[in-house]
Parts: sequence; C-alpha cells; structure tokens
Amino acid sequence: MPDPVISLLSEENLPEWNLNSLYSSLNDPKIQIAIAACNQNTKQFVETYKGLFVSSGWNSEQLLSAIHDFDAIQEDIGRLVSFSSLLYYKNLNDTEVGQFYQHIQEEVTALSGHLIFFTLELNQIEDDLLEIAFNKTPSLRRYRPWLEKVRLFRPHQLSGDLEKLFLEKSLTSSQAWSRLYEETLASMTFSMNGDDLNLSQVTDLTNHPDRQIRQHAALALSKGLNAHLPLFTFITNTLAKDKETEDTWRHYASPVHERHLINQIEPQVVEALVEAVKSQYGRLSHRYYALKAKLLKLEHLDYWDRNAPLSQVPEQAISWLKARDIVLSAYEQFSPLMAQIGRQFFDNNWIDVPVKKGKTSGAFSHGTIPSANPFILLNYQGKTRDVMTLAHELGHGIHQILASKQGLLLASTPLTLAETASVFGEMLTFQSLLKSQNDPAVRRQLLAGKIDDMLNTVVRQIAFYDFEQQVHTLRRSKELSAENIGNLWLETQRQALGPAVHVDDICRPYWTYISHFIHSPFYVYAYAFGDCLVNSLYAVYQNQPEGFAEKYIDLLSAGGTKKYADLLQSFGLKADDPEFWNHGLSMIADFINQLELLVD
Ligand SMILES: [Zn+2]
Repeated sequence: MPDPVISLLSEENLPEWNLNSLYSSLNDPKIQIAIAACNQNTKQFVETYKGLFVSSGWNSEQLLSAIHDFDAIQEDIGRLVSFSSLLYYKNLNDTEVGQFYQHIQEEVTALSGHLIFFTLELNQIEDDLLEIAFNKTPSLRRYRPWLEKVRLFRPHQLSGDLEKLFLEKSLTSSQAWSRLYEETLASMTFSMNGDDLNLSQVTDLTNHPDRQIRQHAALALSKGLNAHLPLFTFITNTLAKDKETEDTWRHYASPVHERHLINQIEPQVVEALVEAVKSQYGRLSHRYYALKAKLLKLEHLDYWDRNAPLSQVPEQAISWLKARDIVLSAYEQFSPLMAQIGRQFFDNNWIDVPVKKGKTSGAFSHGTIPSANPFILLNYQGKTRDVMTLAHELGHGIHQILASKQGLLLASTPLTLAETASVFGEMLTFQSLLKSQNDPAVRRQLLAGKIDDMLNTVVRQIAFYDFEQQVHTLRRSKELSAENIGNLWLETQRQALGPAVHVDDICRPYWTYISHFIHSPFYVYAYAFGDCLVNSLYAVYQNQPEGFAEKYIDLLSAGGTKKYADLLQSFGLKADDPEFWNHGLSMIADFINQLELLVD
C-alpha cells in the first residue's frame, strides 16, 4: 500500500541540515577542547565569585563582570548541548550518537552543578542593594529582566547542596525516563497491510483522504501503542511522582505552578483562557465537527476523520521547492526583512526536511546560541499541512534570529510569546494561499484545513491541559492504571470534540505519543495562548496594516527583555481582559461561518 504522497516525494532530493556552524562531527577535536575550556572557565568563575555576592564586599562592577562571564560560559555550554541534541534527534537509535549525547549531558550537568551557586547567591541579594547597583552601573540595568526572572524562583529555591543533588539526580531520574520514552517511540514500528511504518508515517496516514486507509492507520497506531502501554503508563506515573516530590520540596502550590512561573504568567490569565475556550466548545468544535460530518457525507465522524481532507482525491504533493516559495512569498508580502532572514534557512541548509528512520517525529526550530544559527527539523511529506508546519517553524526561526541580538541570557522569549511568530507565520501563509484560489471546492478545502489546525491548536491543547491536570492531581493520591489514564483521556477528548465525533476504545492509548506530557508538563496551554493571541494581533493588522510590521518586528526582537503585557500594550491589547480571549476565539468562529456559506 505505498502512499502516493510518500512515494512521489521520495524522488525529490530533500535537503538535510548541515551542523558545521556548531561542530563538524561527534569526533571533531574542537569538542574536547571546548569541554576542557568550559571546565577551566567554570573553575575560574567559582574561584572568583563564589561567596562574593552573599558577603558585604561586592560592588556593581563585579556583578556586571560576573554576569558577562556567566553568559560566556553558558554560550560555550549551549553550543555543546545544541550540537549533541540535534545530532541525537536525527539518530535516536544510533548507539554511538546516544553515548555521545549522554556524555555531553553528564559533562553539562557537572558544570551546571558547579555554577548553580551563582543564581542562588544572586537571589540572596536584597532588593534595595540591587537597586543601588543598578544606579551605580547603568549598563547593569540591561540585565534587569534576566535578574527579575531568576528572582521569581527565590521562594522555591533550596540550599546549594540540595539544588546540586536534584540536578545530578535528574540525569538518572526525569531525564533518563524522557530518554527511554523518546528512544522507545523512535524504535517502534506500526504494521499496516504488510508495511512497517514509523510513528510519523502512521499518524500521517490517519489523515489520509481514503477513509479506509485512515481507519487502518488508526488501528495500526492503536495496536502499536498498546504493545508498549505498560511501559508508557509506568513512565507517566513515575514522572508525575518525581515532579510531585520536587514540587513539594520547593513549595509549589500546585502541579502547574512552576510552569506559570517559567512562563512569567499570572495563573488567572491562564484560567481565563481555559474558561473562555471550554465555554466555547459548543460554538467552535462541536459545531464544526457536525458540519464536517455533513461535508464528508457521514453520519458521524470517527476520531481519525477529524483532520481528513474534504476531497477523496489525494492531494497533489507539494514539492519542497514549491513549499519554500509559497512560504517565503507570504512572508515577503508582509515584511521583506522577515523574508530575507527566512531565506537564509534554505540557502545555508539550516533545515532538515525528509522523514527518516530513527529521526524524531514532529517538527521544531531549535534556537541554539546567539553566536550560531537556529536549526529547523521537519518531517516533510508534501501536504498543505506540511507547508503550514514549515511556515510555523520558520516563524520560530526568524524570531530566534531577531531575538538573538539580545545575547544569550536575554534572548529567550517567555512561553507566552514563544508561539507568536510561528502562528502568525502560519496565518500569513494561509491568507496568501486562500487569496490565490477562486475555485469554491479548493477554498472549502483550505478553510476546512485551517479550521482543523486551529481547533487542534486551541481546543485540543486545552483538552490536553485538562487531561494533564487530572493525571497529575490524581497521581498525588495513588499510582494510576493504564485504564484510569485511558478513561481520563477519552473523557476529556469527548468533551472537547462533541457529539459528532465518536471517540471509542481504539483511541484509548493515543495519549501515549504526546511527547509534551513527558518532556514539558503543562507546556500545551502555550499553543492555545499563542493562537488566540495571534488571532487578536492579526485582527489589529487587518484593521490597520500601515506600520504594523515594524512594531511586530520590534516585539519579536525584544526577546526576553520585556514582559508580554507591555509588548501587547503597544498594539492596544490586554490579556487580562476577559474579552481579549473571546476576540481571539471569534476568528475561528468566523472561519466556520465562512465555510458554512460555501456549503451548498
Ligand atoms: Zn511552535
């Protein structure tokens, strides 16, 4: 059963990334030199600064030098981490690469253990003394946002020894479980009509135009995941317990508390978002899936019909070069500067495009360090959705380049804005594709595809968040069985998708392949947050395009130097206003209205 799209694309020579701007290979002698230099610089850093900022004998110039030195060491460490991670994510089942990755993790954990005193001691400086230092040395003020971010964790920090123990133990606890999870997923095969497929391939076929192929893929996915269900259940329980232990030691009020702090977001803003989305399940997902069943001429949708294309005819594969042109020209129309930055990713092979065995599934843009460049990983299969994923990841990549000018400590964007450039890039690409089409059938398909994606980003991720909350909360009283977790999964999915979608037992193990649950608990709400926020931003752009791109590029270039509320203010937007989220959600409702009008 060769999939037409897969076989068509395999004839095209899809580019793979070139990591030379980091290191030439895992045997590059520069790696050992860098590790030795990191150790030497760390040793010197400890000798120079340990104990200084908790004494009374420090001055503001010393604080500034310490931050600069710390930044430089983090940059060198970051290069090693980026290189080993990127290599690893492409070769998950290669023993030599796995050993190299683990070796770097262990080196870096040891270095971080020596450096941990610095932020702990910075957090012992009294606020008024820090203000005096800012006044004495104005260039220190630049680091105020970084210091504020570090100091948010003051109430949750432990003694130096305990912090070091937690860090060192993480290698054999949470990180080890994550690694086992990732390597298990990558080694799995899903048997379908005599073919052995990997996770990317089988999940892709669950969206195939032919309903029977979708159903077979959904069954193969279910069967493959069920075979590892005891392991995934054990990993999930263990990680939730591990998190609880650490949360208790650190006095976090709830499982999600730490995530909100990392994101620098007020819990009530997230709650307002969650409430807004849940209260609109009916108007959004329930209404849409009923409409989609009608469009597909089905009584009801099965779980795997949600993202099915409207047409039975397989979509013509979009070549990689064509995808590049579509995305770059959408960016070009919005901002030539953004297109120019985006073009570098293609010209310099910063993107890894094809589906390969042993490569991680999904897609990401890894920001690396300011002195190098970001890298994008895709599993490109030529669908319109894959073009949207390219637009998404390229948005991240452009954002990472713009923000890197702030330097390592200040570049990273809080999660609240981390999905802005990506989702905005998708919206630009979508609008430009829609504008170029007059055929109602094609427009219907494009609109439905966009609504599918938006519901996956907003409604589905909020359902994920709901699921995760319950798993972590219930795990606090006892270990959960696969049955318990499966029930929570089915229940939260049913609520979100509504009566038109049948969520039956086949879907029971599908929570196991959502890797965010493993790697970044509660990350998922950032997608809904980003999507709604971008919808509001995009509405501002539609109403007043003049001067928008410049302000938007300023927002991206700010990196982590400003709070999201301040950045939004320059567009007249306020996230703590309950209406803000409803505005964002109205955009999805409008697309559904437009689609309804195209239905005869
Ligand atoms: Zn993203």
